[in-house]
Amino acid sequence: MGVAEEFDVVVVGGGPGGSTLAALVAKRGHSVLVLEREAFPRYQIGESLLPSTIHGVCRLTGAADELAKAGFPLKRGGTFRWGANPEPWTFSFSASPRMTGPTSTAYQVERMKFDEILLRNAQRVGAVVREECAVADVVEEDGAVCGVRYRDAGGTEHTVRAKYVVDASGNKSRLHQRVGGDRQYSEFFRSLALFGYFEGGKRLPEPNRNNILCVAFDSGWFWYIPLSDTLTSVGAVVQRDMAEKVQGDPERALRDLIDECPMIADHLGPARRVTTGEYGQIRVRKDYSYHQTRFWRPGMVLVGDAACFVDPVFSSGVHLATYGALLAARSINSVLGGEVEEKAAFEEFESRYRREFSAFYEFLVSFYEMHRNEQSYFWQAKKVTNNDRPELEAFVDLVGGVSSGEAALVDADTAASRLRSGSAEFAGAVDELQAGGSGSMVPLMKSSVVRQVMRAGSQVQMQAAMGDEAEPETPVFDGGLICSPDGLGWVRPPAG
Ligand code: FAD
Repeated sequence: MGVAEEFDVVVVGGGPGGSTLAALVAKRGHSVLVLEREAFPRYQIGESLLPSTIHGVCRLTGAADELAKAGFPLKRGGTFRWGANPEPWTFSFSASPRMTGPTSTAYQVERMKFDEILLRNAQRVGAVVREECAVADVVEEDGAVCGVRYRDAGGTEHTVRAKYVVDASGNKSRLHQRVGGDRQYSEFFRSLALFGYFEGGKRLPEPNRNNILCVAFDSGWFWYIPLSDTLTSVGAVVQRDMAEKVQGDPERALRDLIDECPMIADHLGPARRVTTGEYGQIRVRKDYSYHQTRFWRPGMVLVGDAACFVDPVFSSGVHLATYGALLAARSINSVLGGEVEEKAAFEEFESRYRREFSAFYEFLVSFYEMHRNEQSYFWQAKKVTNNDRPELEAFVDLVGGVSSGEAALVDADTAASRLRSGSAEFAGAVDELQAGGSGSMVPLMKSSVVRQVMRAGSQVQMQAAMGDEAEPETPVFDGGLICSPDGLGWVRPPAG
């Protein structure tokens, strides 16, 4: 056997978590290998996305423009028949000043297309990608993970060494126990989902045509996600005690559940189920709310479904995977660059990631209290996220993925338009810039209102534009780290 190949980072899994991490580490010039078991494009569930992923993380990875060209339906928000209110209610991401203008929409995506764009983007910015390569296990030395063993498409086994191994291999990960032991399953969310695809279903009236529609009914709830003008993803989430019926005859079970839910039955009135190709089968997934007790150990990190997952009603899965990948990439970049020691870097990653997971988890527990109305849900979102904005805004911030106040999750343009509408001082500075002015961003950035919003909004991009003139971010946790000016690493806050 020859000498093992060596990379700075090996990423296991080329889904949104893995390809985001790979791109953000490659962009800092480190060598990255992505090992993906399947040949892309491959099927995956998780089609409704949040603005934080599209306009925040995918802007940083460089995938945003390619995504914008792909023609995915624009999702303005969600429509829910849920809780005490017998009528459907709708929220729009644009209700939050953190998501205005073009950044107030996300996409509904066919994951075969979305995941492929992200993986090819990682390749474009420098990651080496090998498909049909299944990782069997990690390699350890002196208590630290230092590589992986994998089998390629031809069946040949390889060992590859790395300073960091990232497990981004999703829900079915076989490596996650290597960090923190067994999964901790939620006692609360013990449900299962069955789902299929339909052609020709109805759409909500404009402007909510492409919203996700979620409808609660006696046995559980349905999602109804438009993936094109004619194709719809339809799934039912039901209690685990229905497992026998569902697994015995999934097709019949789905049909019976649709008949039980008048709003979904009405939407599917003119539709026919897709029965061929990747969308032709009814699929079942269970046990999908859990977390690991640790998200990292020396030499190894977990991101995405390998680390944690919470019930899908607010489409948080890809958001948590891509946000977790951003945080982990910052930690890896900072340690490899010699800027921050390993423990501090990865504890920052884990604390921020867990905080986001917990916000969704805690909120979702109360969202299943069906006797409440939407006002009560909005209030709960404000409470769990400790947001000082009005209740509806706090709710929309949470379900848009931007409640952490994490700068990189909102687009710079959003912060700019918010500032413009809120401050004459700022508007003057912008106009001066646009008229030619000094050509420098510095007067604009020195505006007191800009500073204020930089703290809450788009620190990364503004700091990048401003360099040393920017007011420093404050740490999220006492004694913690702050984001580097390029958004791709951590730094210690200045003393004092
Ligand atoms: P994945 O997307 O699962 O990618 C992991 C990759 O790793 C795969 O490509 C796999 O082939 C590869 N892999 C696995 N094992 C190996 C190995 N040994 N070696 C190499 N490669 C390997 N999320 C949303 O955002 N919106 C939704 O509307 C939504 N709806 C959902 C509905 C249901 C019923 C469920 C169960 C989930 C839903 N999700 C949703 C969640 C979403 O599916 C996941 O959170 C998301 O796909 C996680 O991304 P990931 O990159 O962590 O993992």
